[in-house]
Amino acid sequence: MKDVQLYRQILGLSEPWDVKSVRLIPEATEIEVEVECTQKVWACGQCRERMHVQGWEKRRWRHLDSCQFKTWVVAEVPRVICQQHGSQTVPVPWAEKFSRFTRLFERLAIDVLLECSVKAASEMLRISWDEADGIKQRAVARGLERKESEPPRMLGVDEKSAGRGQNYVTVVARIEPGKPATVEYVGDGRKQEALDAYWQGLPETHREAVEAVAMDLWEAYRNSTLEHVPGAERKIVHDPYHLMKHLGDAVDSVRRQEHRVLLGQGDDRLLGTKYQWLRGWENIPESQREAFDQLKGQTLKTSRAWALKEMFRDFWHMTTEMDARDYFQSWYAWAIRSRLEPVKKVAQMLKRHLPNILTYFTHRITNAALEGLNNRIAGLVKKAYGYRNRERFKTDILFHIGGLNLYPTA
Ligand SMILES: [Zn+2]
Repeated sequence: MKDVQLYRQILGLSEPWDVKSVRLIPEATEIEVEVECTQKVWACGQCRERMHVQGWEKRRWRHLDSCQFKTWVVAEVPRVICQQHGSQTVPVPWAEKFSRFTRLFERLAIDVLLECSVKAASEMLRISWDEADGIKQRAVARGLERKESEPPRMLGVDEKSAGRGQNYVTVVARIEPGKPATVEYVGDGRKQEALDAYWQGLPETHREAVEAVAMDLWEAYRNSTLEHVPGAERKIVHDPYHLMKHLGDAVDSVRRQEHRVLLGQGDDRLLGTKYQWLRGWENIPESQREAFDQLKGQTLKTSRAWALKEMFRDFWHMTTEMDARDYFQSWYAWAIRSRLEPVKKVAQMLKRHLPNILTYFTHRITNAALEGLNNRIAGLVKKAYGYRNRERFKTDILFHIGGLNLYPTA
């Protein structure tokens, strides 16, 4: 096959576009594929009025490498002038409007960017950092534009830190059961306005269609949802994923205090046990179970706090809201008499929010989606060593977890 034919095939060209020549530039290790257009009459992109070509504009697109040779497509693109819509170049089949890369190159770049940092991708693809970043941003814009607005049914709202200073965003994700969470929206900061903006961008019918919104005990999000979602009193769910963390924190602060006191008496029983108390018993490695059982059986404040936390895990297994309410009452009575200040504090907080904890028994928000979402965002922050720039953090969340169709059309 001759090289002209080869590139015609590779670029998928058909009438009126064709490869005119293929030029190897050895000193630059580059290949230039010249494409020409034979059609002299084109329609305006907007009104379809047919017009003769008025001139030509030379343009260049980076294409996939050919055996390490940087490959460029160059073409004189016909320019037409519509009486109504002005001067315009005609669309080329191998690239999107205004792009300096062919669709295939852009597609590859997106795949690379999904796997590594902008810096690494730009080195691998031999483009500048700005170009790689531009491909990412265009991919997100493209994805958002195409996104079908199916009304969200189950949502999770969370604040996420960019990992540097007090730089927060508000993330709204779809958490439909059995599917990985996808981010719907990322707002600036974690105040009420951040979430208000999301609700205000939804049509009324979509806001009505929302069935459940999972969130932590955070007044700003709660108030925003109450103001914007009809029937929100029965839709807000303070879910196990968020609440168990508060209890875990309480156990940990009991352990730290007790450890300090014990160490003062030369007792290091609690040394290095932090994570054992935070895990559920079934997640403790087999090899540590016996030692842990022995430890939690001792008269320690920490083991009491742990038992209260574990007992609260059973709360989520109640079958009806009524059973759950009863269970909570007895748990609360025990927690409040525990003389463990951090646990008491959490118990009181839970009691205050009980109505929207009990909504769990109607909506059954599972941990999987929320946990997956949290881990993926934490992974992005870690990979970026924290984001200094909030816009970049927002773009990355949508690029990686937005569930968007990022690619240019083939
Ligand atoms: Zn026109």
